[in-house]
Amino acid sequence: MLIDRHCHLEGSLDPAWVRAESVRRGLTLPAPLGSLWRGEAVAFDAFIEAFLFGSKLLDSEGAIRAAVGAATRRTKAAGAAGFDLWMSPAFLVTHLKQLSLDAFWRGVESGFADAAREGVHACAVVDAVNHFGPVHGHAVLDLVERDLPPFVAGFSTGGLEQVPFREWAPVFDRARKAGLRIAAHAGENGPGSNVREAVLEGGVERIVHGIRADDATLALLAERGIPVDVCPSSNAALAADVTPHPLPRMLRAGVRCALGTDDPGLISCDLADERAKAAAMVLTEAELTKLDAFGAADAWCLAPRTEAS
Ligand SMILES: [Zn+2]
Repeated sequence: MLIDRHCHLEGSLDPAWVRAESVRRGLTLPAPLGSLWRGEAVAFDAFIEAFLFGSKLLDSEGAIRAAVGAATRRTKAAGAAGFDLWMSPAFLVTHLKQLSLDAFWRGVESGFADAAREGVHACAVVDAVNHFGPVHGHAVLDLVERDLPPFVAGFSTGGLEQVPFREWAPVFDRARKAGLRIAAHAGENGPGSNVREAVLEGGVERIVHGIRADDATLALLAERGIPVDVCPSSNAALAADVTPHPLPRMLRAGVRCALGTDDPGLISCDLADERAKAAAMVLTEAELTKLDAFGAADAWCLAPRTEAS
């Protein structure tokens, strides 16, 4: 069973939908969005601008449902059976104040129900912004933890890796007590040492990207069985300096790597493209099979949430 192990709600929007909504609202598409759609690499802050533009269109239950629908269609078209979907309710509800939390969750719930009718598994991972810091992290939990829908599996940090993970540890502890599993974007736009720190000082149980990790850190990830979501198309666009791509090295170090699309509405790809990119890194058939197996074995969309402690 193939699972897209890492994609973002806000980064999954169908480009045709974004174009139509922009015309309807009289908005001009930001230049970085056009660059990304043309397959060009952009700086991380330019990517954030494009990501934010899509986020601002997610201002109703229907828009949220449409975004989940785009992820479902892309997943099915690639022959995959599910996806772990990162999303930032606090950014849309508290920061941009563009819809209520109720409307947000209703949109996700109906989108996931649509996916289930198509035989596609899905779960939500609530994403907090690393560079906004732990105060923001607590605010995210203030917003969501009282009435967590059952389809929310985890809590994660994303954005710019600027605040040390040891400072995030109390937020992660609180999320864990609420029954959530903990992931972090680390070793993507920040140094590889962030990956080690996320695990050892943040207690993070799953890493997104991790592509800048050194050999000692890969050994740590392997020893602890920490899953790592690897997104080759996204890395080519946003971490183009990391070359050659370390996926073969990571797998051969024994790390439980799996493939994800990250922001396939911005950086055009689907899981089939990611598998083709992985194959082009001269992985053996056995290694490709292992990637797929880890993809399903460690997927949160296939595992129910643990009870809050
Ligand atoms: Zn991501």
